[in-house]
Amino acid sequence: MKESTNQLLKPITLKKGDSGNLEIGGCDLVELTEQYGTPLYVIDEATLRSVCADYKVAFSRYEKVNMMFASKSLSTLATSVILKQEGFGFDVVSAGEIYTVYKAGVDMKKVLFNGNNKSLEELTLALELGVGRISVDNFFELDLLNELAKSYKKTVDILLRVTPGIECHTHEYIQTGHLDSKFGFDLTQIDEAVELIINSYSNLKLHGLHAHIGSQIFETKVYHDEIEILIKEIARLDEKYGLKLDEINIGGGLGVKYTEKDCPPSTYEIADVIIDSLNESVKKYGIEPPALFIEPGRSIISTAGVTLYTIGSSKQVPHGKKYIAIDGGMADNPRPSMYQAQYSAEIANFKENDSLQTVTIAGRFCESGDILIKDIELPEPAEGDILCVYNTGAYNYSMASNYNRVQKSQMVLVNNSKSDIIISRETLEDLISHDVIPDRLK
Ligand SMILES: *Cc1c(COP(=O)(O)O)cnc(C)c1O
Repeated sequence: MKESTNQLLKPITLKKGDSGNLEIGGCDLVELTEQYGTPLYVIDEATLRSVCADYKVAFSRYEKVNMMFASKSLSTLATSVILKQEGFGFDVVSAGEIYTVYKAGVDMKKVLFNGNNKSLEELTLALELGVGRISVDNFFELDLLNELAKSYKKTVDILLRVTPGIECHTHEYIQTGHLDSKFGFDLTQIDEAVELIINSYSNLKLHGLHAHIGSQIFETKVYHDEIEILIKEIARLDEKYGLKLDEINIGGGLGVKYTEKDCPPSTYEIADVIIDSLNESVKKYGIEPPALFIEPGRSIISTAGVTLYTIGSSKQVPHGKKYIAIDGGMADNPRPSMYQAQYSAEIANFKENDSLQTVTIAGRFCESGDILIKDIELPEPAEGDILCVYNTGAYNYSMASNYNRVQKSQMVLVNNSKSDIIISRETLEDLISHDVIPDRLK
């Protein structure tokens, strides 16, 4: 099976330069840190475009395919522009993500708004900006959206978010009739929702079913099972109500390689399973092939991103671990402290002495749990060295906080030996810009 870029640990342009320092996109990583400071998020444009090319080629044999990037994995104007240029639509989950793609000049018809508790304000923004599809998650939202659509004298195009009874935990999955999940309609609730739409909600137009079964998925069979369940439901709704649903959105979830142990499947393999399953189910249940929507997030943007940190203090616990502290941590990458996520890293600058030492990388935030990488082998890391952590493009900046009132990190885009700021560093003034002292305290 052809290899795809999401299976790589490092950006495709990463190499050792003549100086002995690492380079990405033709930019010396040490020079980048001198120019922009650390922590610094770096996005390699060539890797991002290569991942997009994999997806486009892999899915090209299914005629009606629509690629939607899951904005929640990384939402910035510049990356939205690149993904728009690559022909992607967007799966968005908040007013902020809607506004970002809107400002990036995205065709709003290619945007799907998704989420289990969208507010009236967010739905209003979606209607005003002409978001193409709203994935309705529950009965409350059906009613709210129909009322809103009525007040705008509009018909809103929707999907129903359903829980197909498949849940993935990366290396294993469970399949049950019902799932205890906060997202979507249980399969047993679909008929009630459909009847409400047909009989009462005349400002809603239902186009299809939407599901998302998990994230960092390594197994392909789950997609087969998910598609079979969705197609079976569509055929059943056709038979029972004469309803012709012609869209299925199967969500995202394809995994990436955070450490050498991880072996995510190729995009080409996933695409084959998805397309074959779809063709097979369509035949089995006797319906017209629907338009297929996929919404990858992590597998699009993760590999293109690295984070650069400067190493500062260190601590040798007597008879214990050696801790190396960096100038970032859980506020710029909360995944290790939130769910024990693992990462790989290297020293980016040339090291004379390359004898390996096992160390633990500690963040600078005031929590004992702020540990970025446990027990990693590095060539005698010391104060002033630059640490390059791989696969930080997804769910790092998008989950970042200002914990400890530390400014969020900058982000640069690199390509063909050029670097451009795409998120500028926050200033101290930015940090207090929304603070207000009530008059009575003055
Ligand atoms: C999070 C999410 C995605 C993207 O998941 P990845 O694992 O990043 O590919 C896609 N669709 C929905 C509905 C999601 O909630």
